[in-house]
Amino acid sequence: MLEEKIDSKKKYGDKMEDIREEKIEKILKLLATSPFRNHFHLKEKEIAYIKEKKFSTIKDHAYHFVRTRLAPKDIPNDGKQTPMKGHPVFISQHATATCCRGCLEKWHKIPKGRNLTENEIHYIVSVQLKWLEKEIIKSHQDQ
Ligand SMILES: [Zn+2]
Repeated sequence: MLEEKIDSKKKYGDKMEDIREEKIEKILKLLATSPFRNHFHLKEKEIAYIKEKKFSTIKDHAYHFVRTRLAPKDIPNDGKQTPMKGHPVFISQHATATCCRGCLEKWHKIPKGRNLTENEIHYIVSVQLKWLEKEIIKSHQDQ
């Protein structure tokens, strides 16, 4: 899948972003069919936190969590490294199955037992941010 992405970049250049966007929409739709994944939503507190911190800061936090808790080859507490509440990115991780290497392998076909590549890290953060963005849009509509 990674090779495919690199090839796409060579072939399509700036269309790369569209390809990633399409892939993300597809996986988010699939995740929404899982009752477990779909029961995670942001609450007012988390939405307020995002607005206060600004989205760019949340993005920095997401990169930090992914790099420190998911990217290494060996994670002794894999499956338990992502709290169920607290930071909005944690909620997004459970909703998008980017909470642990087991879920990344099952849902995103990113194998465990090796370090994540930069490309994979960007992809994972993009999925999380897209989900957060959708939650915020939804919260506006609900008001
Ligand atoms: Zn998991």
